[in-house]
Order: sequence, then structure tokens, then C-alpha cells
Amino acid sequence: MYFKDLDIENRAFNVQLIKIGWLDNEHVFNIGPIPKKFIDKLKKIKPNVRSFGYHKCPFCNEKQGSNRYVLKIEDTLQCYDAPDMIIHYIEDHNYLPPQEFIDHILKL
Ligand SMILES: [Zn+2]
Repeated sequence: MYFKDLDIENRAFNVQLIKIGWLDNEHVFNIGPIPKKFIDKLKKIKPNVRSFGYHKCPFCNEKQGSNRYVLKIEDTLQCYDAPDMIIHYIEDHNYLPPQEFIDHILKL
């Protein structure tokens, strides 16, 4: 499933999901170096929404679980919504998530 970074999905009760890292092989994405402490932090947080099945990486066919990080932004009805696979995209495909997401994780 593809979403552009920072696309907003409206959910019930005015909740908004801000999409991060829903990549596919038909759309370009930002690449670049990323702070190691960001990756370490994200790995520690762990995906908090569980789903069945798996995601297949659209670039190298690696399979992973299809869990998600849904992380609330304080004092808002917004959450960042990123797939489990985001760590693989960063580590293996140099994906660079939006700076506001990096800042959010580093602040947690
Ligand atoms: Zn891959």
C-alpha cells in the first residue's frame, strides 16, 4: 500500500494518521544519511499495532511482519503511522523519513 510521506488519512473521531514510509517501487522517495540514534530509538520503541500477514519489500522482496508504529503526537488528534518495514527501508535502501518524524522519535 502506497502513501506519500506526510499524507493524512482521516479516521473516526477526527483522528488523523500522518503517513510515513509507505513506499513502493513506482514512486521516488527521499534518501540520505540518518542519525544512528534515530534507528536505535525506533527499534526500541517497537511497532505498537499488530496485524496478521506480512509485507514484502518492493525493492528486494525481503519479507517482514505487517505491524505498524502508530505514535500519537502530544496535544493533538494526530498520530504518525509507519509500517514495521520502515527500519528495513532505512537500513537497506537509504530511505530518509521526513525531518519532523525524525525529530518526534528523538524526543520520545
Ligand atoms: Zn528491501
